[in-house]
Amino acid sequence: MRRVTILGATGSIGQNTIDLIDRNAEGYQVVALTGGRNLAQLARDAIRLEAEVAVTAHDDLLDDLRAALAGSGVEAAAGAEALKEAAARPADWVMSAIVGAAGLPPGLAALEQGATLALANKETLVAAGALVMDMARQHNGTILPVDSEHSAVFQALAGEDIASVERVILTASGGAFRDWPMEKLCSATPEQAATHPNWDMGQRITIDSASMFNKALEVIEAKEFFGLAPDQIEVLIHPESMVHALVGHVDGGIMAHLGAPDMRHAIGYALHWPARAPLPVERLDLAKLGQLTFRAPEPGRYPALELARRVMERGGLAGAAFNAAKERALDAFIARRIGFTEMAEVVARSLDRLDARLGPAKGRFDLDNILQMDHLARCEADKVMAERQQ
Ligand code: NAD
Ligand code: MG
Repeated sequence: MRRVTILGATGSIGQNTIDLIDRNAEGYQVVALTGGRNLAQLARDAIRLEAEVAVTAHDDLLDDLRAALAGSGVEAAAGAEALKEAAARPADWVMSAIVGAAGLPPGLAALEQGATLALANKETLVAAGALVMDMARQHNGTILPVDSEHSAVFQALAGEDIASVERVILTASGGAFRDWPMEKLCSATPEQAATHPNWDMGQRITIDSASMFNKALEVIEAKEFFGLAPDQIEVLIHPESMVHALVGHVDGGIMAHLGAPDMRHAIGYALHWPARAPLPVERLDLAKLGQLTFRAPEPGRYPALELARRVMERGGLAGAAFNAAKERALDAFIARRIGFTEMAEVVARSLDRLDARLGPAKGRFDLDNILQMDHLARCEADKVMAERQQ
């Protein structure tokens, strides 16, 4: 029996992970499930899967969670410390599927206790790439990428020497606004941005897909996870979302990974790795599909992609600042305090103002340094937004 924990169990990735575990429930002992305000869902899954503990991120919900779990034998816990403790409980495999930088401390706790970390939370590598990869090496831990593009690259690299890789191409659907005229983007609403043409995902990542901040995070994630140089990573718009990534080798050969847009593929690959197991995902019928199309991202349309380049060149704590400022700008867009195109402006301005505090490009930073920068960048983004409103 494998002991598994799911951080962010009530979210889109968490529920897809539970779907796969449910299909072979006798093979797994669920250690911890964590969630946010959706206590009904959290309690229902924790009781059904006979988890040891269920944790809500919110301290104020502890009593409600206790009540929802009463008589079930599942322990209840709440708050950021409890999340870390849950992740630190001995487990073989931990799914990191909290959204945002909040996923970083529990993810690190899971690595520290020696679990294999299935990493959906891309913010972990964006904010703390060097620290996390060092931690994995130190504890002989394994990180398996769950972001579909990174899982695709990982699979395309199986049996290959990373030294023979010339470039990695991450595909992007282009999100909700890929066919909108650029001048219309400034009036886009959160509801319009939160509809994805191909993937069914959480609200935040869906909006990040429309702005390409998601792809910007993924470019940085790829640099950190695979140890690539920034100019080895390319982005290609591929509206059908069937080719998830491509790996180009020094001999000119390209390995592509294809599959239906269903996160259970990447999750299942990480769950069964290093083996492959049958997965309940749609099989591609290429003859029926007829064609796959690709185009370069239009220059000027996706300032987030340019910011990702800048962050990688700058190094130091730029990734932590970039992600945190982005999270605040996204909060403000969702709350209708700023417009869609303002998000990138706020992040760019915040990075300008924080530049002197981002430390040396190749400096070593611990978790405290990273969390401090995360905090500082949120404040800076708030200040930038307040000044813009005056
Ligand atoms: P989601 O919004 O559907 O779920 C997020 C989960 O995190 C929920 O369980 C929520 O309760 C929890 N959570 C939210 N804020 C929290 C906080 N401050 N502290 C603790 N827990 C908190 O998100 P999702 O779409 O499942 O995405 C999860 C992660 O996986 C993100 O990092 C996202 O970028 C990444 N990812 C998602 C997909 C996808 O298809 N959904 C694909 C690739 C990568
Ligand atoms: Mg992705």
